[in-house]
Amino acid sequence: MSAATGPESTGIDAARPPDRGAVAGGAPATVDRAACAALDRADPLAPLRDAFTLPAGVVYLDGNSLGPPVAGVRERMAAAIDGAWGTGLIRSWNTAGWIDAPLRLGDKIARLIGAPPGSVAVCDSTSVNVFKLVVAALRARPDRGLIVTEGGNFPTDLYMAQGALDVLPGPRAIRYARGDAVVDAIDADTALVMLTHVDYRSGRMHDMAAVTRAAHAAGALVLWDLAHSAGAVPVDLAGAGADLAVGCTYKYLNGGPGAPAFLYVAPSIQDALAPALSGWMGHAAPFAFDPRYTPAPGIRRHLVGTPPILALVALEAALEVWDRVDMAAVRAKSVDLTELFVALVDARCAGHGLALASPRDAAVRGSQVALAHPEAYAVMQALIARGVIGDFREPDVMRFGFAPLYVRHVDVWDAVEALRDVLATRAWDTPAYRTRAAVT
Ligand SMILES: *Cc1c(COP(=O)(O)O)cnc(C)c1O
Repeated sequence: MSAATGPESTGIDAARPPDRGAVAGGAPATVDRAACAALDRADPLAPLRDAFTLPAGVVYLDGNSLGPPVAGVRERMAAAIDGAWGTGLIRSWNTAGWIDAPLRLGDKIARLIGAPPGSVAVCDSTSVNVFKLVVAALRARPDRGLIVTEGGNFPTDLYMAQGALDVLPGPRAIRYARGDAVVDAIDADTALVMLTHVDYRSGRMHDMAAVTRAAHAAGALVLWDLAHSAGAVPVDLAGAGADLAVGCTYKYLNGGPGAPAFLYVAPSIQDALAPALSGWMGHAAPFAFDPRYTPAPGIRRHLVGTPPILALVALEAALEVWDRVDMAAVRAKSVDLTELFVALVDARCAGHGLALASPRDAAVRGSQVALAHPEAYAVMQALIARGVIGDFREPDVMRFGFAPLYVRHVDVWDAVEALRDVLATRAWDTPAYRTRAAVT
């Protein structure tokens, strides 16, 4: 890696932990488990829980990392294996809708992120899509040398941007800012502002419209990572004027482990932006077998290779659940759940060394809550042993995701009671819970 692209060049702050606030103590004495059950009975999204298969005895607060299977996905995949694949064979590329799946599924996701039809494609992984769009964006701004991002951004986004600079002509560099300071770091040399909309660790949410305006005022493009936004919070890419976006489908969208990702390119720049990877699925006429590459018009040019049909079958089943969902209702319940969690942790878990590592203001918080604790890893392992599943992120953060389609208010209550008990009894304080697994 060249010196210009190294993190050390411009003050990376990835190691700095997120902002912390005390866990307060005192709060709503009136809320108990029965009150939470009453909230569930009044919840308009409650019936959607039946659209998922969740194991008995588990409070699942990690749908922000891997959503559960939707009911019926096994049958859908079995039918695809026996029918379209096993019986239709190669004919199914034409007859079973396979060849159009990346854009058909893209249109379903588009509705959830405020994107017009024909602006989203499902393909590759989020990491690969970051690389593709960073390269495309920098080539569209050849006279500018800077990517502005956050040092605390999800590492794969940073790694991909660093690697993209290595294959592009220099001199170019990455400027790492923090939080609201990102806007001040944008200047006349900025080609691209690359941010994750909802921070993977703290859940802090950027003002997409304001940052996009600031970038455009300086002549830069903006790339939003929606990994923790799609299906979690309302997103209005078109309203914000965003240029580019990527995101995961295996988190809140429930597409399955390693399900293909999505990418968005604003219609106004689609035909001006050359694709970074010139694969045949992005060719204007893949089956012309022309030896020269000509990009397809529109979003299709960002497809690269043959789409993973079985994974797309599972994802399509998951997205059909989202067809029935209004994102405003999702946001309302998400705020209810995270506010309840924070209030109950304040009221019931004070005095055990917890700190709130997410914004206290729900308006700038996504659908997750981070709690810091010196023994966060062991505490999370003790919780998982009790069936309350969240995860751990370096350096000291327990992450709890609240997916509004299937998490109930009583789950929030039960999770906080388990946390209180684990802390009060020091159940976490055993070597077995300190042994790090490969995936945390
Ligand atoms: C989960 C996540 C990714 C994951 O990328 P993959 O290529 O799917 O492994 C990327 N960016 C962010 C912000 C994430 O939270």
